[in-house]
Amino acid sequence: MGKIDEYVATHSLKPADALYHTNRTVDGTGKIRVLATKDNIARVEYTCPKCSHDDYVEEPWKRPFSVKCSKCSYRIAVPKLKQQFKREMKKAP
Ligand SMILES: [Zn+2]
Repeated sequence: MGKIDEYVATHSLKPADALYHTNRTVDGTGKIRVLATKDNIARVEYTCPKCSHDDYVEEPWKRPFSVKCSKCSYRIAVPKLKQQFKREMKKAP
């Protein structure tokens, strides 16, 4: 079970308790999941698109949000929905 799922389960977190929650692909091969709670802490699970490193971090919540890969220091940013949408539209045949 992922750290975020674990957190949600232990604290019986309801959708209303989250400021922000997203689960995205990053640069095709990476992944980022962010859960920001009302204490202004963002809990982040990611797979680095550069080195495939998986990790979990907690950081102060702010927007735009990004985390640094703990292995290769690549900055993984949460793509803005609109930008990602445009990119995916471009990729579609
Ligand atoms: Zn990395």
